[in-house]
Amino acid sequence: MTVKVLKFGGTSLADAEQMKKAINIIKADPACHYVIPSAPGKRFSADEKVTDMLYLCYETAKKGEDFSEIFEKIKNRYRDIIKGLALDYSLEDEFDGIAFAISHHAGRDYVASRGEYLNGLIMAKCLGFTFINPEKCIFFNENGTFAAEETNEVLSKMLKENTFAVIPGFYGSMPNGTIKTFTRGGSDITGAIVARAVNADVYENWTDVSGFLMADPRIVPNPRPINLITYRELRELSYMGATVLHDESIFPVRFAGIPINIRNTNIPEAKGTMIVPSSMIKEDDGTIITGVAGKKGMSVISLEKDMMNAELGFGRRVLSVLEELGLSFEHLPSGVDTMSIVVSTASLEGKREKLLDGICRVVKPDSIALDDGFALIAVVGRGMVAEKGTAQRIFGAVAGANVNIRMIDQGSSELDIIIGVAEEDYEKTICAIYNAFAD
Ligand code: ASP
Repeated sequence: MTVKVLKFGGTSLADAEQMKKAINIIKADPACHYVIPSAPGKRFSADEKVTDMLYLCYETAKKGEDFSEIFEKIKNRYRDIIKGLALDYSLEDEFDGIAFAISHHAGRDYVASRGEYLNGLIMAKCLGFTFINPEKCIFFNENGTFAAEETNEVLSKMLKENTFAVIPGFYGSMPNGTIKTFTRGGSDITGAIVARAVNADVYENWTDVSGFLMADPRIVPNPRPINLITYRELRELSYMGATVLHDESIFPVRFAGIPINIRNTNIPEAKGTMIVPSSMIKEDDGTIITGVAGKKGMSVISLEKDMMNAELGFGRRVLSVLEELGLSFEHLPSGVDTMSIVVSTASLEGKREKLLDGICRVVKPDSIALDDGFALIAVVGRGMVAEKGTAQRIFGAVAGANVNIRMIDQGSSELDIIIGVAEEDYEKTICAIYNAFAD
């Protein structure tokens, strides 16, 4: 028996028309056993997400002000969906209960979670599936971290008994029973947790794009879609800012070896992107570069000191200064007597002087400089491992675009090559690298 877990994002459930598309997708395939809805998202770009409106209700009530106008807008979103679906169903009692709770100081996470909760009730009704409240089966620890094993035990049991179910995304409960949400976009995580609990054949993540593209379409016109990507490659690309999925949603399914399929609710015939463990990929599938991504807003601290290579503990002392200041570094390229530390410019705010003074104090460098305006670009591809000539193609393309490379870093995995360029060269470099490989 094939078991699929399907998560639908906010734009896929933003109104009755979108909801109908999701329902059709689910009904067309008997393998669709478990459905994780988000709250209704934006119907058009200037629209408001229900979750944002719920946060606003909470903030308004907290100030002791009247939140009924905003809450009315939320109620109307759901009323419109119910009407558009021609459902014989009412959420009015639920609305009253939630409004009462908000006016009686309900917690912020409880209020935010109601978007998914109400959408889940509608979907369960529409599909004739069991509604499962994540309060009862998705748990957080006392310190707020997700209780993965406890959840998996309870959730798998519950889902074994309910083979067709809707489980609202985004939240669970604390040991004292209060509601706690994941971070924003967290329904992706719920989907992955459910997929792991039922050992699904695939976790389908339905959104408003047909998966990942080889490069950012705002930089490269019509980039090719990525049909197949490994979890590790995805991690590298997401780290560099290519986001479609919530970062934390990868872990539960990755370790269970369950593939994720990113699909487009508006174009259900498109196959989307399949994210799979490396073990599921044939040794040579012809792909060299899977994607190119990057980020601007980087700063580089450059250190020089004669005989640095012989000075025991040099690196540790430098990094201890960053640690004390709560700074994490992105890369650490080094030469014989030089060391560079790449950090995000934003994280340096208010810490620049302390950082430079601290480093000077602990290692007494011959020179130290801090430069902003740096961008990192990662060229990621499982096909680069042990393949000759890829670096030459990358650097050739960058040179052809007349861009100076200021840093090169190839991880030991050989899965990616990261280069640093001046921010003003960022777009040009991405295009040049993309064009060198996308033929
Ligand atoms: N509704 C939540 C948000 O807007 C969670 C989600 O959609 O995944 O962040």
